[in-house]
Amino acid sequence: FIIPEFQKFTSKIDDIYWECKSIHSGKVATYIPQLSRYSPDYWAVSICTIDGQRHSIGDFNVPFCLQSGAKPLAYAMAVNELGSDLVHQYVGQEPSGQAFNSLVLDANNKPHNPMINAGALAVTSLLKNDLLLSDRFEYFNVQAKRLGGQEEVGFHNPTFLSERATADRNRAIGWFMKENKCFPEGINLEETLDFYFQCCSVEVTCMSASVIAASIANGGICPTTGDKVLSAESVRNTLSLMYSCGMYDYSGQFAFKVGLPAKSGVSGCVLLIIPNVMGVCLWSPPLDHLGNSVRAVNFCERLVAKFNFHNYDNL
Ligand code: GLU
Repeated sequence: FIIPEFQKFTSKIDDIYWECKSIHSGKVATYIPQLSRYSPDYWAVSICTIDGQRHSIGDFNVPFCLQSGAKPLAYAMAVNELGSDLVHQYVGQEPSGQAFNSLVLDANNKPHNPMINAGALAVTSLLKNDLLLSDRFEYFNVQAKRLGGQEEVGFHNPTFLSERATADRNRAIGWFMKENKCFPEGINLEETLDFYFQCCSVEVTCMSASVIAASIANGGICPTTGDKVLSAESVRNTLSLMYSCGMYDYSGQFAFKVGLPAKSGVSGCVLLIIPNVMGVCLWSPPLDHLGNSVRAVNFCERLVAKFNFHNYDNL
């Protein structure tokens, strides 16, 4: 086993879980009703190692939407299908230093990276763009479910409808990008936006999302099914960008303090990858002022204080 004394390990995970449970700061997102209704008490941690050992604690079976947790998945699928060179004709690899939903492009008039909204719109404009929107979403959903070992990966239509109904900022980003020729010729902008909102509205549980994270930790092969979903190139790219850009405007500090690739979403989820060891999903809705789950970030910082998982530990 990759983690030999798994029970000893998970009992320490549970200790950190309980330490974080007593944190009550942060605010649940309120920009759509579906998010605002999450209880601030929800808190779940799930682990899946690359050899399929599992552990979960807390509200790990409660469904929630991936939100920005969908961004690394869409990006990985796009690189897997189209290759890195093509995808990066449309999106860069640099942290933006600005909020995730900023109306800003880099010096080449491209979105800075695929982990912010502009970059994710560029990615979704590329993903299977020769198909009907229905088939494109089905593709995303099927791939996500494969990454999740065929566990709980669904779709929350109320969230999608709310996202679409309150999307002035994302629409503004889309039109700004269209003006700057950020999309392949002939794409339908409204469809691209819908596809992006649909990906954000994919519903998982902490448990199923930990398998998704584990598939990425395992180089694109799902540890529970053996299904090879993503190429090595797409996983390497995705991990690099999660490391530098995955945690909103805390990404630099997170890379410094935790030293692991991760992606957070406004639903309060964090996908945390310990490459070649395990995938972790953390979920708790209250967010700090940068948009990261307070309990999840705290958990990550305590995790690397207890175990040498930081990229630059053990030198
Ligand atoms: N649906 C959200 C948006 O595009 C995603 C936000 C997030 O999780 O960062 O604004």
